[in-house]
Amino acid sequence: AQTPVKVTVTGAAGQIGYALLFRIASGQLLGADVPVKLSLLEIPQAVKAAEGTAMELDDCAFPLLSGIEVTDDANKAFDGASVALLVGARPRTAGMERGDLLQANGGIFGPQGKAINDNAADDIRVLVVGNPANTNSLIAQQHAPDVPAERFTAMTRLDHNRALSQLAAKLQVPVAEIKKMTIWGNHSATQYPDLFHAEVGGKIAAEQVDEAWLRDTFIPTVAKRGAAIIEARGASSAASAANAAIDHVFDWVNGTEWTSAAIPSDGSYGVPEGLISSFPVASRDGKWEIIQGLEIDAFSRERIDASVRELEEERAAVRELGLI
Ligand code: NDP
Repeated sequence: AQTPVKVTVTGAAGQIGYALLFRIASGQLLGADVPVKLSLLEIPQAVKAAEGTAMELDDCAFPLLSGIEVTDDANKAFDGASVALLVGARPRTAGMERGDLLQANGGIFGPQGKAINDNAADDIRVLVVGNPANTNSLIAQQHAPDVPAERFTAMTRLDHNRALSQLAAKLQVPVAEIKKMTIWGNHSATQYPDLFHAEVGGKIAAEQVDEAWLRDTFIPTVAKRGAAIIEARGASSAASAANAAIDHVFDWVNGTEWTSAAIPSDGSYGVPEGLISSFPVASRDGKWEIIQGLEIDAFSRERIDASVRELEEERAAVRELGLI
């Protein structure tokens, strides 16, 4: 039998953690034939709650789940890990300045990066979900000099899935008929969901909708969907965020022809090297590759640049604070 793959989840007692862990244990993260070992990392005050979740995981008697550990020690949590889902983060609270937010997250993602560097398995893959996800991922990466830089990624798959669903509803087609959707830039309000390369029925999506809808409805609806869900549900989107994390890792490991993921830039499409920015990507042999050769018109260029500028500002701010 195959040796179990260790998967570490931080912020495991949170909302997203609760929606994520059962799906990992049931085989949806890595595949229905891959046994997993779960490690749940939490802050000391939340360890007891995570232990409660671990009890429920036990009670599911998942055939693929070979063990669960709960800890507040990052070195232990990442020891031998092949997949790290960094969900726990310091949320922005009312009146909080960006510098304070980045500082607080630097205190979480710097040490976690180092613990990954020192303890994780050679094939470690890291997905950051906790916001500001792109820059938190950059901080962790910069504290893990022995891990190949491209193993650090951030999640824009939820934005990608939201874009698919909005477009499918508008054109009244099944989501499966939409190909080549792309989210560019930062997982923030500046993100750019691109319909100029997306295809429906083999034809460019942007040509099948009017420009006003694309500009004034589609783009802001995708970018602000999180707030709309909080407004409707009275709680943030947790199940769809967990689902997107599963999609990201599954495709990274098992391959895909086209999706969106925030990965370290190699300078493609004018995105400064090293920024962890969302691109159209394929996954081959377990590695993300940026899809090359797309023509970027002025409308898209302006929006990609604005989101990338925000990422540069975040990188400058964490440098200034000595966090990287
Ligand atoms: P959630 O599980 O709802 O969210 C966790 C993080 O995911 C937040 O930073 C949130 O950012 C982010 N996120 C990304 N995409 C989405 C999305 N689409 N919808 C909602 N959130 C999204 O938070 P909880 O407060 O329920 O739980 C957080 C847990 O993390 C707590 O149990 C806490 O103890 C733990 N924690 C653990 C740490 C550790 O392991 N060292 C460190 C810090 C916290 P945003 O809020 O900006 O939306």
